[in-house]
Amino acid sequence: MKVHLIRSEEYDIEDFNHVLNLLNQFSGVVSFVPSEPIKLPETDIEIEYFTKDDFIKQEQDAMMSYSKEISSDDYVKKSISFPHKSEVYTWEQLFKVCTDFRENNPEEVSEKDKVVLLTEKRNIENWFGAVDESLKNYFVETSDWDFYFDSIDSRFPIVYCITGWLLRTEIFKSREEMKGALHFESIGCLMDFCENKEEISLKMRTADICDECLSYTQKNDSNRAYLNQMIQIIDGIRKNMMFRNRSLFLKNKSRLEIRGLMHNVYLKDLGDLQVNLNPKERALYVLYLNHPKGILRSKLIEHKEEIKNYYAFFSNAWDNQTIETAVNRLVDYTDNNMNEVLSRIRSKFKKAVGEDLYKDYSIEVKDNIHQISLDRELVSHENTEMPKSNFGLY
Ligand SMILES: [Zn+2]
Repeated sequence: MKVHLIRSEEYDIEDFNHVLNLLNQFSGVVSFVPSEPIKLPETDIEIEYFTKDDFIKQEQDAMMSYSKEISSDDYVKKSISFPHKSEVYTWEQLFKVCTDFRENNPEEVSEKDKVVLLTEKRNIENWFGAVDESLKNYFVETSDWDFYFDSIDSRFPIVYCITGWLLRTEIFKSREEMKGALHFESIGCLMDFCENKEEISLKMRTADICDECLSYTQKNDSNRAYLNQMIQIIDGIRKNMMFRNRSLFLKNKSRLEIRGLMHNVYLKDLGDLQVNLNPKERALYVLYLNHPKGILRSKLIEHKEEIKNYYAFFSNAWDNQTIETAVNRLVDYTDNNMNEVLSRIRSKFKKAVGEDLYKDYSIEVKDNIHQISLDRELVSHENTEMPKSNFGLY
């Protein structure tokens, strides 16, 4: 079965690809496929959130009278000043994007496939995501996650949200059944309602489904392989979050694996998270991994051939001149290019492991020597041997 992920065009393509990669890391009966970006139609609805409490409250008609102690303002991570006006969409408008996508792509989207719209836009009920009556069309909100999580890569909560909806629609057979199973007091189950949206972090940390909810899988004869794959994804996210939290205190570092001919970089203990370095960044990164003692900035030029071999291979470029120029700029002591590449690598690790831990993995400089400090005992390679013939370019 395929799950088609539609990116609404205001959602950043790089973030979208991160989400897609993370979802596809656990293979199984479901494969996640990207779509062309889609422009959402105009909406003329605007909501004004007068207080922070309005902003973080998921609406639930039946629960209008339900009042809850709202946690202190310390929880506000991202500063939004209230009242805060926001353009919003109705659920119908968002689900229509999914049904239109099906109609416009009859060849690619089969009847049983799922379609998930990822959008930065808020919805009128203020939910993280939802599913329509058919249990095949979904939307998930991609914005405002840093409002709920401090220094966590937004791809984790978004992937959790997508996977959570895909799980719910396999465990339960209708939206009514789902509604009936909701827990309005958070217990760390997938079916916690989280009226106060801040409670989502508890749900992600436990990544659990309670026995009562699991019993529906027997009743409804849910697809085990599908459920297992989704649970693996959610476990991966949990591992990543737990590892990050503990590392802060225990100072343990993740194993890092370089995988495949393209030397993709994975952090194994962080839910096998891929750090998406582009070819130039990866060429430089692999070079420094190969040199645990580091390289003096002025001596980088001596490693030009090594970088060039990697870069030519990773970038798949046929034009020797382009490669030569790019590598010359990188090793040139007077050019700022190397610093730019280093700072991009740094920010990618920062996104993956957080502000407090990234320096263990990124290329840092001390006394003019650039180095990756990670203990090489923690570094492994899998199928990275490149064919020698490709180096024949030069
Ligand atoms: Zn439950």
